[in-house]
Amino acid sequence: MGIVQQFVTAVAQHRVRLIDLTNPLSADTPTLVLPEPFANLVDFSLERVSAYDAPGPFWKHHNIHTGEHIGTHIDAPVHWATGRDGKDVSQLELHRLVAPAVVLDFTEEATRDADFLLDIHHVRTWEERHGPVPANAWLLLRTGWDQYARDRKMFLNADEHGPHTPGFTVECARWLAEEKDITGVGVETVGIDAGAAGGMEPPFPMHHFLLGHDKYGITSLQNLAQLPPTGALLVVAPLPIVGGTGSPARVLALVDHHEQ
Ligand code: MN
Repeated sequence: MGIVQQFVTAVAQHRVRLIDLTNPLSADTPTLVLPEPFANLVDFSLERVSAYDAPGPFWKHHNIHTGEHIGTHIDAPVHWATGRDGKDVSQLELHRLVAPAVVLDFTEEATRDADFLLDIHHVRTWEERHGPVPANAWLLLRTGWDQYARDRKMFLNADEHGPHTPGFTVECARWLAEEKDITGVGVETVGIDAGAAGGMEPPFPMHHFLLGHDKYGITSLQNLAQLPPTGALLVVAPLPIVGGTGSPARVLALVDHHEQ
């Protein structure tokens, strides 16, 4: 029996768990808000074209309006100035969209300090315990922020000094981009950079280094608590928008099902 058929059988026998890491997409989905003078994307919305009525008596369908970087979505290299000559979202490599995932759980730290930043030593300590991050893997940072995924105010957590959400240090961003053989990084927050990253040098270092090194980012993940630290397979499915810098994406995890 071929590998794919074995897998199909395993799914049918519930030996594989399928976990949705995607925030459902609606007009209420919390999205990034850039301060003046920067321009913001439009939020997601549905526009009714027909609903079993005169414009379409037997069917219902909508136009969708959305920015690229809305809800659970992927950042393609071309999104950032440092990746401007890189891949657009239609060009992302399939073997990196279906790739292993590791989950680094820093929920406690982020609960104590909303501005928590993951540093190189955190990843090294994690690797001492769980083994090296596998080649081609997605590194997923769990912070518990998905509990705010349907609460716009808490999700962005902004005060007069700006947003306060966890992320990565400049050094860690550079190290992940330049030295780690990963596909990219996934987070539960609104962007792959920390809330305070606009004041770092360079500004928004995760975008700067990762996207400049042909690596990808995924934001607004949820349900990472259901994943093991290692051993999950991620399936990331953005729309292949030609010339697009990102796309809302359905992100699924496949994990071994262990009886309780
Ligand atoms: Mn984005």
